[in-house]
Amino acid sequence: MKTTVGKNRAMAPYGSRGNDQGVSKPSFVAAVQAKLPVLNDGTSSIEIRHGTYLGKPAVFFTAQDYFVTLAQDCKLTLKDYNHILFKEYVDIGEAPMKILEWTTDFRPEEETSIVPVWILIHQLPWHLFRWQVISKLVSDVGVAVGPDQATYSKSRGNIAKIKVEIDLLKPRLDQIWLGFNLLDGTEDGRWLEIEYEKVPSYCLYCKLQGHLESQCRNKIRDERVKVQREEQYKREKESKIEKKSNDEEGYQIVTRKRG
Ligand SMILES: [Zn+2]
Repeated sequence: MKTTVGKNRAMAPYGSRGNDQGVSKPSFVAAVQAKLPVLNDGTSSIEIRHGTYLGKPAVFFTAQDYFVTLAQDCKLTLKDYNHILFKEYVDIGEAPMKILEWTTDFRPEEETSIVPVWILIHQLPWHLFRWQVISKLVSDVGVAVGPDQATYSKSRGNIAKIKVEIDLLKPRLDQIWLGFNLLDGTEDGRWLEIEYEKVPSYCLYCKLQGHLESQCRNKIRDERVKVQREEQYKREKESKIEKKSNDEEGYQIVTRKRG
């Protein structure tokens, strides 16, 4: 059940793009086409083998081409990739459409476990408020997407807020060690506390975001049906055995008498 539709929409920190008037921007198609010679260079060596699978025609890619080379090109054609990832929803007509990251094993009936979330880094030293530093600092938490406006403009004290892509199936880090070598050769450092904002839950059973497997109604329903089927099967089996033993009773009485 997606109760979050229409609510809790993350505001894009760079939502207002400022005044673009007077700036001639290439169209989306032109921008993609400009990339094509580069893309073709990268994909011209893609190897596609034709064959059959279970008696039907099939094409086979190497895993490297399928998961890496081709997927890379797909990301390149998505202009403004990071800008889009700042949003949880986009409005298409009247309907809010949820944005999920595309992966090579995408299936429309399943939701990916990789989601962009906001994290807060507490007590981040002032001189580390640089994107080159912050994005590397959080690499064990997830893939850094971008800072929020206050972090970008350093207007929120020592708390940095960053959008990071995390995998909901992986354990969540709540601290990062910030270590440094002192001039006398000794080492020192301290922990940076990491706080997560609104991390969606993920159900391993139905592969959907929004609830945990322990709260999954689909799982409870399926298990109930399974138990009912098993009971039904048991009853049918018992009634068959009963019928069979009734049919054989006469014969058994005879054999017992002979013994
Ligand atoms: Zn579920």
